[in-house]
Amino acid sequence: MSTENIKTRFAPSPTGLLHLGNVRTALFNALLARRCSGRFLLRIEDTDRERSRPEYVEALREDLRWLGLDWQEGPEVGGPQAPYAQSERSTVYARFYQRLEAAGRVYPCFCTPGELALSRKAQLTAGRPPRYTGTCARLSEAERRARLERGISPTLRFHVPAGRTVEFTDLVRGAQRFASDDIGDFVIRRADGTPQFFFANAVDDALMAITHVLRGEDHLANTPRQLLLLEALELPAPRYGHLALIVGPDGGPLSKRAGDLSVRELRAGGYLPEALLNYLARLGHAYERDVWMEPDELAENFSPEHLGRAPARYDEAQLLHWQGEAVQHAPSERLWAWAGTAAQQRAPAGLSEAFIETVRPNIRFPADVAFWAERLFGEDLTPGAEGEAVLAQAGRAFFGHALVAYDRHGVAYQPLVAELRQQTGLKGKSLFMPLRVALTGETHGPELARLLALLPPETVRRRLQTRC
Ligand code: GLU
Repeated sequence: MSTENIKTRFAPSPTGLLHLGNVRTALFNALLARRCSGRFLLRIEDTDRERSRPEYVEALREDLRWLGLDWQEGPEVGGPQAPYAQSERSTVYARFYQRLEAAGRVYPCFCTPGELALSRKAQLTAGRPPRYTGTCARLSEAERRARLERGISPTLRFHVPAGRTVEFTDLVRGAQRFASDDIGDFVIRRADGTPQFFFANAVDDALMAITHVLRGEDHLANTPRQLLLLEALELPAPRYGHLALIVGPDGGPLSKRAGDLSVRELRAGGYLPEALLNYLARLGHAYERDVWMEPDELAENFSPEHLGRAPARYDEAQLLHWQGEAVQHAPSERLWAWAGTAAQQRAPAGLSEAFIETVRPNIRFPADVAFWAERLFGEDLTPGAEGEAVLAQAGRAFFGHALVAYDRHGVAYQPLVAELRQQTGLKGKSLFMPLRVALTGETHGPELARLLALLPPETVRRRLQTRC
């Protein structure tokens, strides 16, 4: 693939929060740009006045930044084609409507929604695919004027040329062919003057010099329309790649329980951005190495040729796996901040780094950090039944020896356990488990040597003492 001046974009409609599905689209476009040292642009497609909300624009910008998917052109950062919100670009669109009008490629349509619905129904009943029948294309100039004089606001329809085959090579799905006769004339400007998706999206991609568009396969049928429009406008078309949708574990649509999660929810649940990136970059895209990658490596190894055509299945176990990896790779200060106040108030600030390093293999979410902070630095330890059984079996004398060994060797773990082994005649699990339970209340957890070094000496003594 030529990597010259690659420019990709993410063009969300701010009608809701970012979810895994549209974040993946943003990610693939960002990775493609980054891998080719190109540019990634953000454009807000807010032409649907009813459903678009400024708070969603704000939220999606924040979510993209949190994920590290920064854009080099777009809202906040600016660029040569500003503004980057479609609601602010009506003068730009007006120029291109005029161009189409002058070329006789569009016509006003006065059909009411009721009339259109009736016509659609009639075609469906007759077993034909519904498309606009061209009623208003056949109006005479006088008929048009009469309707305008009656105060009817028309939409503007693009006249689809007859008998053409629209062909293009999809970056994911290969060669595509569409017959223009299957495409009815479509609306490019609504009756209220706002642009329709097909038009604003295509015009902006061309003006903003977008070279590659990766988007959901639900847009595949829009592409021939947009190619015809761009041709009529004498504007360049980007290369399109249509991504297979994400489906639930059962192959059905994503549901609230499985995968239909907003970035906000995942972030609030403690997911790290790199976990989402590592997971999503593999959802419908294959890397040669299935190992943890930093965001730059995800980009370096990204390739549109490795995008799959089959639906990508959401798999929570995989997401959890990458979350675990992200935690293992994050710097300790970051994990300390991420852990939140429950852990921060419990673990002494001076021990934050040692604490995080000790519990790192045992944590996946902030609640796990809080759990270990409580276990290690909290006052009371109440082991469960399994732990109590371990303590009882070891017997009080065991802890007497442990205390003496600790007083003699402190945090020097090897000599400490060597002495305890000698004194008690125990080894392996029978030796380590009672110590673990006495010090943490748990039968599983971080490495004992590290725990011993981390815990304040008075805590170690107190916890051994109470078992003597
Ligand atoms: N605003 C459109 C959407 O969110 C953009 C589609 C495209 O990427 O071209 O579906």
